[in-house]
Amino acid sequence: MPLSRKILLLALAAFFAAAAAAHARRQRGDGGSSLAAYYTPEYLAFKKRIMAEFTRDKAGRFSEFLKHVGKGKETSSEHKVLALTFDACGGRHSGYNEKLIEYLRREQIPATLFVTGIWIDKNREIFDGLARDPLFEIENHGLLHRLCSTEGRSKYGVYPTRDLGDVIDEMELGARKITQLTGRRPLFFRSATAYSDELSLKVARRIGMEVVSYDVLSGDAMRQSASRMNKNVLAGARHGAVVIMHFNHPEWPVLEALQLAVPELRRRGFTFGRLEDFTVKP
Ligand SMILES: [Zn+2]
Repeated sequence: MPLSRKILLLALAAFFAAAAAAHARRQRGDGGSSLAAYYTPEYLAFKKRIMAEFTRDKAGRFSEFLKHVGKGKETSSEHKVLALTFDACGGRHSGYNEKLIEYLRREQIPATLFVTGIWIDKNREIFDGLARDPLFEIENHGLLHRLCSTEGRSKYGVYPTRDLGDVIDEMELGARKITQLTGRRPLFFRSATAYSDELSLKVARRIGMEVVSYDVLSGDAMRQSASRMNKNVLAGARHGAVVIMHFNHPEWPVLEALQLAVPELRRRGFTFGRLEDFTVKP
């Protein structure tokens, strides 16, 4: 092969490799930020130890419904507590629904907020304010918003972890970041898209967190209307049910849906609780 052609092929290969890496970073939404800063010798030793414990384990089922944390399902009980949970995903989805949070504060509605490390980086002051507010429980939505699969499975095109090591990074480094900033270690982890595999659940529990999915899909991520979301929430409301919504998309009608649902839920005797208030501790 002539030299010029070889150079051309090499240049093309380098171009495609760079393009693929850039695409992966965009998918991941971390803008290329390196994990190196998080890889202290202590952390790497910890990760190695945890990985060694699970080398023989299989990934198991891959689903968004591996386990429910909701304690009870009875509707007639005098205890009718609903857990409103709101995710902040980060990357291209790093907005902040300020009016929604103001509404929760005004109405004194306790809520659980699942945040990623990359959302925190883009919204540091807001995050500090939320973490200081006893109305809100801060939980772990992963460091980089990667879907936790120990074999690299994906859903809805969301960038997944490649392997067990990545899963530990996503869970543990997300938890450490929150702990460092708030002084409280998260008790719960929700994988991006809420999908994960059984091995990821075991790993989360091993490092002190319970994986949380949801019982009631509000429909905000499916761009449903406020009235449709209101119907979804009312239809799924049971004692102990976990409702999933987002607070990183001010353009989604989450506030409008809650303004419809909350008065009706209260009329039916529901109150609202944070996950740590009424679920089984890991
Ligand atoms: Zn998310």
